[in-house]
Amino acid sequence: MPHALLEGFQHFRTTDLARYRERYRRLAEEGQQPPVLFVGCSDSRVVPDLLTASGPGDLFVVRTVGAIVGPHETPGEPTQAAAEFAVGALGVRDIVVCGHSQCGAMKALDAGAPDDMPHLQHWLAQVADAALPAEERADLAPAEAAHRLERRAVLLGLERLAANPLVADRRARGQLTLHGWHLDLATQDVEAFDPATSRFRPLEEVLGDAADDAEATADDA
Ligand SMILES: [Zn+2]
Repeated sequence: MPHALLEGFQHFRTTDLARYRERYRRLAEEGQQPPVLFVGCSDSRVVPDLLTASGPGDLFVVRTVGAIVGPHETPGEPTQAAAEFAVGALGVRDIVVCGHSQCGAMKALDAGAPDDMPHLQHWLAQVADAALPAEERADLAPAEAAHRLERRAVLLGLERLAANPLVADRRARGQLTLHGWHLDLATQDVEAFDPATSRFRPLEEVLGDAADDAEATADDA
């Protein structure tokens, strides 16, 4: 085992574990009831727990290369499987699909994965539909093209989760909400897809609007 991992483990045992010991014991005994499924990229710079100040029992997480969500028709598709478990067995109320800037998977999708990575090629081919149309891409600076591709992949993921019958059922009952996020690695700013405007906007604004709407609905009731 790499020395840094072992050192980190020992540090955890002797420091932070004390703070969480009771919580871990309770979660082990009573089971988990995380309210959120977080679908993120495997990228080491995306740290869901740190980003959302979450701890044990807070987030059910699936991380794959590119935070890719395959079609629900694909047998055993990993993110769809995680979503079914999270929604059907754990009763999560929200699913966040989080893409990010400087995503290596999205760069590989754009440039093509090397021939000695056939599994990666197949994996990325699942989101070929997210690629920018050639005429749109031609007019864009590389950074802007990457930015759009990363967001398109998030939206494709949301679409595919929405097509999962179990997810669709819970959404129809008003028990589940889907969210699309894009994380800027350097600043850790998050933009969220706003269905009202069909645009990505700062997460704080989108959540603020949603809270205002909920309040207005409550006032009407
Ligand atoms: Zn990535």
